[in-house]
Amino acid sequence: MTNLLLHICCAGCLCAPLEELRSEGLKVHGYFYNPNIHPLLEFRKRLKALRVLQESDPIEIDYCEEYGLREYLSEVNYEGNNRCEDCYSLRLRTTAHHAKEKGFDAFCSTLLFSKQQDHEKIKVMGEQIAERVGIPFEYRDYRHLCECSQRIAKKKMLYRQSYCGCIFSEFERYENTTRNLYGGWKLKENSASSNTQKEEKLNCP
Ligand code: SF4
Ligand code: SF4
Repeated sequence: MTNLLLHICCAGCLCAPLEELRSEGLKVHGYFYNPNIHPLLEFRKRLKALRVLQESDPIEIDYCEEYGLREYLSEVNYEGNNRCEDCYSLRLRTTAHHAKEKGFDAFCSTLLFSKQQDHEKIKVMGEQIAERVGIPFEYRDYRHLCECSQRIAKKKMLYRQSYCGCIFSEFERYENTTRNLYGGWKLKENSASSNTQKEEKLNCP
């Protein structure tokens, strides 16, 4: 039986592929190492979601609980176009080394199971790192299970994030919502009188 160290970035892409890997006869051990998740409370939410998953699933997970903002900023060229490449490389490299140190047979990452990530880049990078570190990369493409996995995570009431992870991806996710948010405030002010009318109708104190 192959003892696989699976890098996990959050619970979202994990649920369905985990069952597939097991049905293929692999023994899956998780590894939470994500210095790319910011800010701190978001990092803790994603980490906690895995602990919640463990309450209903026997998967063992090694957690790197240190908040890695500084590590991320020193390793990733966030000004250039290769931000995600640097980020993948950091996480895959560390996973490969951890797998080798702990005596696993191979490593893999839930990054490969997402439709949002650069699948081909992760595949090539995983194979290169495997060769350099000297441990096999167990490549899998479970992108077709993406929606199913999210549904299972929802059913299990696991936290599902709304942006990739780093502070830059959070900005990109929400930058176009700013105007609407301010519009919302304006709307609130403008509709103050109609709210008062509503409140009167409802007999609010
Ligand atoms: S790729 Fe995104 S959704 Fe999938 S496990 Fe990683 S952080 Fe979660
Ligand atoms: S967008 Fe996602 S993959 Fe890209 S650098 Fe940020 S956390 Fe890493």
